[in-house]
Amino acid sequence: MFDVVVIGAGPAGASAALLTAKAGKKTLVVDNDKGVTKRAWIENHYGVKEITGPNLVETGKEQARKFGAEIVQGTVTDIVKTESGFRVETDEKQYKAKHVIVATGMLANLAEKAGLHTKPGTEPRVKTILDVDAAGKTNIDGIWAAGTIAGVSMHTIITAGDGAKVAINVISEMNGERYVDHDILKS
Ligand SMILES: Cc1cc2nc3c(=O)[nH]c(=O)nc-3n(C[C@H](O)[C@H](O)[C@H](O)COP(=O)(O)OP(=O)(O)OC[C@H]3O[C@@H](n4cnc5c(N)ncnc54)[C@H](O)[C@@H]3O)c2cc1C
Repeated sequence: MFDVVVIGAGPAGASAALLTAKAGKKTLVVDNDKGVTKRAWIENHYGVKEITGPNLVETGKEQARKFGAEIVQGTVTDIVKTESGFRVETDEKQYKAKHVIVATGMLANLAEKAGLHTKPGTEPRVKTILDVDAAGKTNIDGIWAAGTIAGVSMHTIITAGDGAKVAINVISEMNGERYVDHDILKS
């Protein structure tokens, strides 16, 4: 049983995973390597002078792995509610999760199949997004969404920030109190 299964390892998903893993939550990321960030050249991400999209995505995954997140290749085909949480299904495997974070970028087909409420997107070229509240919660308790699929502006700093925001909210809900992740400069 994973505490958190994140679907999608783009800026939103990997950012969420690194925080949940760093907070000690058993975290799995399932990704099928179809993200749009692979085609980007980025000069507008605060704190990073310039980086290729593939490098940003790989660095994000490395950060998540460093804190213990497991990242597997696969296409999630459904998310099914169970007595103890959720069953996240791929063509080959099934994973149990207490919480699920959907971070599938521009792809809304999985979310629709899983019964998550959608609505028309408002950002350029984004057709469908999930109907989430300010915390990132969908209409199914325990399934959250972050990044492009959650309707935020399609910029890496914003989608990554949204993934982090949702992760902090998931961790806080699991812990029963607001969570903060601050490391202190070693002198
Ligand atoms: C050509 C181009 C140039 C860009 N240039 C810039 C730029 O200069 N600056 C900037 O800030 N932004 C830029 N962007 C936008 C930026 O890439 C996006 O805003 C941001 O990366 C989206 O992040 P995300 O995590 O929401 O989605 P994505 O990066 O698309 O990640 C979604 C992930 O979910 C996975 N996934 C989807 N469905 C499933 C499923 N069913 N099962 C498993 N995995 C699944 C995908 O494989 C993917 O890895 C550019 C985009 C493009 C296309």
